[in-house]
Amino acid sequence: MKTFAKLLSFLLASFLLFWGCEQPSEPEKKAIYIIVDGISADILESVDTPNLDRIIEQGGYTHGWLGGIAGEYSESTTISAVGYNHVLTGVWSNKHNVYTNSIEDPNYNYWSLFRLFKHNHPEKPVAIYSSWLDNRTKLVGDGLPEAGGINIDIHYDGFDVDTLAFPHEYGYVQKIDEHVSNNASESLREDAPYLSWVYLWYPDDTGHTYGEVEEHFESIKVADEQVGRIYEAVEYRMENYNEDWLFMVTTDHGRRLPDGRHHGGQSERERTIWMISNKSDMNRFFDEGHPPITSIYPTISRHLGLDIPAALKKELDGVPMIGDVSISDPEISYDEETQTIDLNWNAWGNDGDVNIKVAVTNEFSGGGEDQYELLETVPLSAGQASMSVAGHPSDFYKVLLEAPHNSVNRWLVLDDENDED
Ligand SMILES: [Zn+2]
Repeated sequence: MKTFAKLLSFLLASFLLFWGCEQPSEPEKKAIYIIVDGISADILESVDTPNLDRIIEQGGYTHGWLGGIAGEYSESTTISAVGYNHVLTGVWSNKHNVYTNSIEDPNYNYWSLFRLFKHNHPEKPVAIYSSWLDNRTKLVGDGLPEAGGINIDIHYDGFDVDTLAFPHEYGYVQKIDEHVSNNASESLREDAPYLSWVYLWYPDDTGHTYGEVEEHFESIKVADEQVGRIYEAVEYRMENYNEDWLFMVTTDHGRRLPDGRHHGGQSERERTIWMISNKSDMNRFFDEGHPPITSIYPTISRHLGLDIPAALKKELDGVPMIGDVSISDPEISYDEETQTIDLNWNAWGNDGDVNIKVAVTNEFSGGGEDQYELLETVPLSAGQASMSVAGHPSDFYKVLLEAPHNSVNRWLVLDDENDED
């Protein structure tokens, strides 16, 4: 009996060992995004950037846009902190409420990517490596109850306000970026956080000081080396650990003609940004579409397999750039006489329907929930729809277009011009 028990446990152990070996464990999903401040797309393309080129060769490169919908409710200044927060929250300024670099009153109801991550995985570490302190303390709201009370486990920042280590003399911005990128490279190798944000500042500094001339081009080459250093750390993790990393690089705005010394406006060149990914399987929306910078949020969420709360998902202003995608670029117009909404969109594929829903409140903005009502269901491939909203009289509509693989939204804000008469 004893021998039989031994044999049985031996067989069981062998089976478990065999089974354990035969089942390769799923790689751990990790993501990092880098914002390099203030590089116009055409300038980036004209400067020699071997490190970025190497990542692009493995993955992809695309032009994108920001600034919200020019002249409408979501128009957002093409300013640094505003741009970072589009990436961080996946929505425009009318929602996240950051319009300037002073970040006075961010609306934390639109969860940062870090809060979303911690909502899914409270125990897994995240990191910020930044040449600007406010990114963590104000935009993410590290530790603030109103920002969810989440903590950034690993951070290397605050050097912009450390005037002892980095006196504000000629070239100090470059030194800070160098320090940040070295810290990031070391920490990524050793700590390997699940979600990271690196922010590099120097190219914007040279753009403001000199314009788009040799000094600016040189600063882009410096940033290229720093990104390369960070990418090598990620490659080290992928080669030595069972980890699957999404690595994205972007900028927070273009620069204004004629000399590139300024930005903040709505010119095409200021609104144009670029995005780089290390993934060879980016979707058609990334390759052929015209993605807004807010698309980085749902892209990273997808890669990490994060569950996005339904009400938050309805607010997102971007479209995933990996995996299946159905719909993008919603446009809306309103006929006052017939109280009819006209919608059109870009359809990616022919499968399925679009459920068109409408809410006439904006409770989400204040931490509440909006009730959406289904108005119509139309084939995705139609690319357009027209419907009466006479049954829902309002001067404000949040229109949600839900398709099989993603949803998009557009607001209708009706000016009461007649009231002024
Ligand atoms: Zn900037």
